[in-house]
Amino acid sequence: MPDYRVIVIGAGPGGTILARELATRGLMVDLYEKGNYAELGHDWSDAMELVALKSAGLQMPRLEGKQWIGELVKDQPGAPGIFEKHAVPRLLLTSPGLISSKEVDFKMITTDRRRLAQLLIDQALEAGVGVHYRHEGKKLLFREKEGYGPDGVEVFGVRVADLETGEEKELLADLIVESSGFNAVLRTSLPLKTGLATKFSPADFALVHREVRAYDPGSDFAHAVPDYYRYGFHTGYQWSHIHNEQSIDVGAGVKNEPGKPDPKDLIEEFISRHPAIGGDKLRGGRSLCIVGSPLTNFLANGFLVLGDAASTSVPTTGCGAGSAIMAALWASEVISEAAAEGRSDLLRLWPVNVKFFLTDQRGVSFAALSSLRAMLQNLTHDELDFLFVNDLLDADTLQDAVNGRFKPPGLQKKIRALTGGIKKLNLLLKLNQAVSTAASLYNHYLAYPAQWDPERYQQWLQKAEKLHSI
Ligand SMILES: Cc1cc2nc3c(=O)[nH]c(=O)nc-3n(C[C@H](O)[C@H](O)[C@H](O)COP(=O)(O)OP(=O)(O)OC[C@H]3O[C@@H](n4cnc5c(N)ncnc54)[C@H](O)[C@@H]3O)c2cc1C
Repeated sequence: MPDYRVIVIGAGPGGTILARELATRGLMVDLYEKGNYAELGHDWSDAMELVALKSAGLQMPRLEGKQWIGELVKDQPGAPGIFEKHAVPRLLLTSPGLISSKEVDFKMITTDRRRLAQLLIDQALEAGVGVHYRHEGKKLLFREKEGYGPDGVEVFGVRVADLETGEEKELLADLIVESSGFNAVLRTSLPLKTGLATKFSPADFALVHREVRAYDPGSDFAHAVPDYYRYGFHTGYQWSHIHNEQSIDVGAGVKNEPGKPDPKDLIEEFISRHPAIGGDKLRGGRSLCIVGSPLTNFLANGFLVLGDAASTSVPTTGCGAGSAIMAALWASEVISEAAAEGRSDLLRLWPVNVKFFLTDQRGVSFAALSSLRAMLQNLTHDELDFLFVNDLLDADTLQDAVNGRFKPPGLQKKIRALTGGIKKLNLLLKLNQAVSTAASLYNHYLAYPAQWDPERYQQWLQKAEKLHSI
């Protein structure tokens, strides 16, 4: 396969792992990143899916009580390593009004995103990837074809700007991969008829702010402040995760719409009630975070879109690094087989879509969760408190939601929802409707087309769009 060339745009976790995997399998891969090595990732630590990091081949630590032990664990702040020491195997989920809480399994590990990004790019370089910093992907080069939807184009290259010299060049490849984050500059340069060009709407985002703060070493470590997640708070969430005896991560996210409180103020209010947290911000940042439903297709001929650019984050939390990694791993299997046949057409690459939606029902769950999230965001704190207290948002449902899973609740639960709390019948009817729609989406996405067939996809898509619009 030495003649098969892949260009990846964006060195997030998705793009870097895909590039590393394809180069390891002998393909010619170039990765273009608009930033530089020192700026990769985020200047903070994220909750990342354990399963994704393990699948990506990282040396995973073992759990001892509430501590991670292992080669890649930071022994102390500032030491090498990528995982924060303090583990959160069980997370306390509280209702927005703090009147009810439930403990759930949390399948994440707090991971330093800058160090992870640098480790992954070092691995990609070692695998033979050509890494080009300070280069920005501008638009796709394509020719229009006859054919429906994503089959209506053939991508053959990408226009890239060298940000140091200002020079722009057209680069040709068998496959262009966009992994450039939620601005999705490349796929949105395609014709609308492909179904890939639509920009995300403001409602597809949350505004998230997080800070790593000093944690008073004299305080009763791990008791003064819980590892907690305040679910549904001001249309989003507010959390705290201890990193170690010296630092703690505090953050909040709200629906991205005018009139919502600033998540930074929600953090300040939390800190004001917890004197063990103080001092200056050590690290942190804020940005929009994609929380919409995933694109229904990630492919055109010669083109693949991955990660946030394809809206593959968990809709209920905005955690998207795990999906970017898993999608990259699944895609690398399909692409390397296609490369052996010299192919990069939609028909051949279609299993990339199927794997994302159906493996462990990841994409299926996200489609259902996005509809549930939209409904929950319209509820007041009182209404959400009521659902918590009456176990209509029970520990199982909440555990699935924070870990990015959805299971259609049984009929019994719906009936209980309708009859158990006559006091709030309107709310219960709304919940029942939302759960039914989410379950219908779940079942519909389980029937995601197994092969690329324009007519079948069109029919499937029309029904998916109808369900999303309820
Ligand atoms: C405040 C905040 C908190 C978050 N917390 C979590 C969390 O706890 N857990 C979690 O899993 N996720 C979290 N996320 C989301 C997570 O960061 C993303 O889902 C994930 O990084 C997406 O990975 P990606 O590979 O799609 O691309 P990204 O990580 O977005 O990387 C894209 C890369 O492409 C580069 N780029 C952009 N445009 C171009 C271009 N035109 N040309 C070349 N390069 C380009 C960028 O510089 C960047 O390096 C959070 C996000 C924010 C903002």
